[in-house]
Amino acid sequence: MLKSADTIFALSSGRPPAAIAVVRVSGPRAGAALEALIGKIPPPRHAALARLHDPASGEMIDEGLALWFPAPRSETGEDTAELQLHGGRAVIAAVLAALARVPGCRPAEAGEFTRRAFENGRLDLTRVEGLADLIGADTEAQRRQALRQMRGALGDRAEAWRAKLIEALALVEARIDFPDEADLPEDLVSPALARARELRDEITRTLADQRRGERLREGLVVAIAGPPNAGKSSLLNRIARRDAAIVSPFAGTTRDVIEVHLDLDGCPVTLLDTAGIRDSTDPVEQEGVRRARERATAADLVLWLVDSSTGGEIPGDLLAQEFPNNAKWIVWNKIDLVSLLRIKSLKSIVHKLDYPSYFISALTESGFDEFLKALGKQSQEFLGSSEPALVTRARHRYALENAVGALDRALNEQVPIREDVVAEELRLAGRALGRLTGRVDVEDVLDVIFRDFCIGK
Ligand code: GDP
Repeated sequence: MLKSADTIFALSSGRPPAAIAVVRVSGPRAGAALEALIGKIPPPRHAALARLHDPASGEMIDEGLALWFPAPRSETGEDTAELQLHGGRAVIAAVLAALARVPGCRPAEAGEFTRRAFENGRLDLTRVEGLADLIGADTEAQRRQALRQMRGALGDRAEAWRAKLIEALALVEARIDFPDEADLPEDLVSPALARARELRDEITRTLADQRRGERLREGLVVAIAGPPNAGKSSLLNRIARRDAAIVSPFAGTTRDVIEVHLDLDGCPVTLLDTAGIRDSTDPVEQEGVRRARERATAADLVLWLVDSSTGGEIPGDLLAQEFPNNAKWIVWNKIDLVSLLRIKSLKSIVHKLDYPSYFISALTESGFDEFLKALGKQSQEFLGSSEPALVTRARHRYALENAVGALDRALNEQVPIREDVVAEELRLAGRALGRLTGRVDVEDVLDVIFRDFCIGK
């Protein structure tokens, strides 16, 4: 499993050009790589001025800083070198080319540094996930949650639970292995089951969190939908431009879904513009439409936009049909084009609808503040209390539910209690917790987790 015979290197800082670039090297040849490029190994954990030379031609490439972290006290647990260079493309290219010429060194794969940290026991899986979330965090609340996870909030708890389980298991196994031992107290199974019960109750309490942690990771997903020309793109642009805290406007994987990530009063909100949802005969476009629909039907909230100036048909049935499982709001747009009288008469009708209505103009922004406030309130309610959650991914929930299931089965044993059954269930519960932290049996989930990392991390 361990490929640590190789020494890996990569650009670990962001996209060049930049003021500074950080190149990391990890593995048994990291020291040799430093010698080859800068002619020395600096004292451990001290920044040293370094002149970088191409080992083949001897030509100087750049002047920077070098740091040396000998194993095992490094991020990966291996010998690690870090070079801080000027962040120009040619500088970086020359340094990476020089490193590739050092025997035993090769470019790192995505997530490979972190994977080595995991394999060398520096980080458990929940910490790895926390690290990935910290890099991906868009809002303060997400950052706090990710940092807690990276510092072991769930991982340490799971390890403590597992230790308790092993104690309980040892009691039951002692009874099984030495049934007639006079020195052993008669009843070892009762105290074991008492521990199992405490553990089950504690894990069950942890799971009863309304999925707060998972929700915060994903944010409130809001789809903007409605007929062509209702003003969907205008609304999205208006919100995006108005909201100074917009984080990363990001064109989706298809040209038909535009995603905008917002920070509404500290709550992460993802807005989807489904303007591309329309009937089409072009197969490529149909595929885009299918994906756009799929994204929209999974949204937590659908904003259905209506052009108040044209007919203003009340789309109740259509809405229920298209989005049966989502919370829905009707947004009456273009109120700048209609008379106050008409707005009044619309308002008198809409309160009979099943969905809240908002009256706005994406053009003049009238009604806009009230609408944004309501959206902020909705996202806050969606995320629930701000109390920190331990479970932040479906993977965690699944492992903990498995542990609770096994503990339940152990606790359901009736007198005469079959000790071997209790032991086996306790073992299964321990295994579920071990999978959570990556102690046991996780090859299958590793690729999924590390797939999200970029190269150099
Ligand atoms: P979409 O097809 O639903 O994305 O609609 P667009 O955002 O492209 O808007 C269609 C047209 O309506 C554009 O010409 C917009 O400028 C106009 N529009 C959008 N919102 C408003 C509004 O609140 N008031 C007025 N008067 N025009 C609007």
